[in-house]
Amino acid sequence: MNKCILLDRDGVLNEEKGDYVFRDEDFIIPEDVPSGLMALKDAGFKLVVVTNQGGISKGLFTKETVQKLHQKVQLSCENAIDHLLYAPLHRNFTKSLASKPGSLMMERGLALTQSDPAQSWLIGDAERDLIAGKKAGVRTILIPTLKEQESEYADAVCRNFGEAVAYILACSEI
Ligand SMILES: [Mg+2]
Repeated sequence: MNKCILLDRDGVLNEEKGDYVFRDEDFIIPEDVPSGLMALKDAGFKLVVVTNQGGISKGLFTKETVQKLHQKVQLSCENAIDHLLYAPLHRNFTKSLASKPGSLMMERGLALTQSDPAQSWLIGDAERDLIAGKKAGVRTILIPTLKEQESEYADAVCRNFGEAVAYILACSEI
């Protein structure tokens, strides 16, 4: 079986802005993200983005906008990401099993990459990410941004993406 990293998007792959990120100029990729993604890929991890994008059902932006921003990440890391999964529904309109803290997107990511949850990880900046990861049986890393500073659902707390990557690689060597 493979192993994978489930990646929240806003606050992990691009800077958290405290609101929906859909404008190109607001989509800022921290310096340590492209090299971190490539290091994880080199270590044999499949990479899957799992992002709630409820702004789609609110009519703030379209699926094409999400895909365009995804391309920006892909270009930065030599197409290291295997899959982009996003949940377009918003809880104000309809309950969606796919949206985090639901674990459907996580299960799908694991299935698509044929990954063993016990060898896989989730990196997120909100408790709902970590809960979704825990439900799917993977280990979790919290990167605190404007949201949670700590969480009982976090196996580790790392200050930034580079630190999270180093932590995962160190754990994988054991
Ligand atoms: Mg986030």
